[in-house]
Amino acid sequence: MSVMIQEECVSCALCVDICAEACIVEEEDQFVIDVERCTDCGDCLPACPVTCIVTH
Ligand code: SF4
Ligand code: SF4
Repeated sequence: MSVMIQEECVSCALCVDICAEACIVEEEDQFVIDVERCTDCGDCLPACPVTCIVTH
């Protein structure tokens, strides 16, 4: 399992401070998760108002 941010991201940044690993970063069109540092803890999923953070 891994955690990813889908294209519905509205760049609100609400997920950023939730992540203890500080691995959610802003890119040009949306926020993305650095898969090298993400521990798949799942803490960021409920923080997203548009539920675009998903496990797959
Ligand atoms: S699953 Fe955990 S470590 Fe990974 S981005 Fe979300 S809060 Fe950060
Ligand atoms: S909380 Fe959701 S919509 Fe907001 S920046 Fe994070 S992934 Fe994007």
